[in-house]
Amino acid sequence: MNLHYKSTRNSNLKVTASEAILTGLAPDGGLFVPEELPVLDVSMDQLKDMSYQETAYAVMKQFLTDFTEEELKNCIGKAYDSKFDTEEIAPLVKVDDTYYLELFHGATIAFKDMALSILPHLLTTSAKKNHVENEIVILTATSGDTGKAAMAGFADVEGTRIIVFYPKNGVSKVQELQMVTQKGSNVDVVAIHGNFDHAQSGVKAMFENQELAKELAGKGYQFSSANSINIGRLVPQVAYYVYAYAKLLANEEIADGEKINVVVPTGNFGNILAAYYAKQMGVPIDKLICASNENKVLFDFFETGTYDKNREFMLTSSPSMDILISSNLERLIYLIAGEDSEKTKELMEELKNGGSYTITSDMKDRLADFAAGFASEEKTAESIKAVYDKTGYVMDTHTAVASYVCGQYKEESKDGRKCVIASTASPYKFVKSVMTAIDDKYASADEFRLLEELQSVSGVTMPQAIKDILDAQVLHTLECDADKMEETVKGILKL
Ligand SMILES: *Cc1c(COP(=O)(O)O)cnc(C)c1O
Repeated sequence: MNLHYKSTRNSNLKVTASEAILTGLAPDGGLFVPEELPVLDVSMDQLKDMSYQETAYAVMKQFLTDFTEEELKNCIGKAYDSKFDTEEIAPLVKVDDTYYLELFHGATIAFKDMALSILPHLLTTSAKKNHVENEIVILTATSGDTGKAAMAGFADVEGTRIIVFYPKNGVSKVQELQMVTQKGSNVDVVAIHGNFDHAQSGVKAMFENQELAKELAGKGYQFSSANSINIGRLVPQVAYYVYAYAKLLANEEIADGEKINVVVPTGNFGNILAAYYAKQMGVPIDKLICASNENKVLFDFFETGTYDKNREFMLTSSPSMDILISSNLERLIYLIAGEDSEKTKELMEELKNGGSYTITSDMKDRLADFAAGFASEEKTAESIKAVYDKTGYVMDTHTAVASYVCGQYKEESKDGRKCVIASTASPYKFVKSVMTAIDDKYASADEFRLLEELQSVSGVTMPQAIKDILDAQVLHTLECDADKMEETVKGILKL
């Protein structure tokens, strides 16, 4: 069977999986979605004994049907290898009565590695399959983690270039250092004077600019995206939810068929949407719990049915979730609108023009699989400390948002199901906030000294990714205003 993809804003546009990966965003500004959500064709009993790589294959082959077995296994093998510091790739750690699915064991110690270590391979394979001759220019907006993970994935990959935009004052010290020290002859990093939403809107505008596309083609270039709007990012993420469930079964933590809840610290809505896709594939997940930080636009949406980005943008200690426009929500909107691309388009235009939209009550009824909560800065810090004091486990600020929301959900709903928390970053990446949460005597300490301190507090060895930046050279210093992104790209590509 061949699964096609269509745009959330135009059901008549149909492309293959490899074409969708190559293009990133549909030409009408919509996102590519599978015509039909596939289901697993292997049983949990079989999945129970599979490695991460085998699980990834079982999941991804259902989505990427125009890839051959050899192509897909080759991509998976190159992605999930010794770049990860554990053979499990995504270990499931039991802390107290909760399970933390640690998605930060890759090259850049955040969960973006789960998808971005495979995307370059999916993309270059797609280019070959479709006889693309142009050099592919990956244009990426980052709230901190995507940028580094994408650069690490694409650095020196033949036939590609990558340009990353990040908010100058919106990322952690470690995140910034990771990006500006990135090696690779095909890599450029630009700090913009603005926030993540400016960066993301600027990138989207370039994708939709047909003039620019022509100019690029004239010089032998074409754009693609490494942001989670690319279906090639979303699909690999479905795999770890399947893996987590199979691990719970294998470890006899749950009974066959027992439903679990999943809690996801959410920004652009990619990770939690992958969990929703996993549920549609047949994984016994009951609630998908969306955890926001103080930029709680999603919490308000689930509560009221109104998405409203007209509000103050907060800089928080979980910067990778400092987002007011959650792009991937469009894929959920499309599903709850009964796959009505006209309706989806109308709502997205309202968002673009007025900054808000309200869904119908029928649509809201279809959100019953979801629950939502948010954590203030204070509660986030308290959660880090509480879990550390009780168990010795140190989690990062993003995971702490989810951990707090998880506890709050259990208390309010009296829902006793087991919870898996998507643990999205290593505490080393946000060391200042994490250590200060544990003890405020660290508030004025030097960030580099805190890295050592974290090692002794957590008993977890400093990851290679951190050691690498300690004495690396700064290679990128380019900055630009938020409305000058296109000029900057043209300058870099010498158009
Ligand atoms: C990107 C990111 C998130 C948010 O994930 P989305 O898929 O954008 O919702 C959460 N935590 C960390 C550490 C991240 O890097």
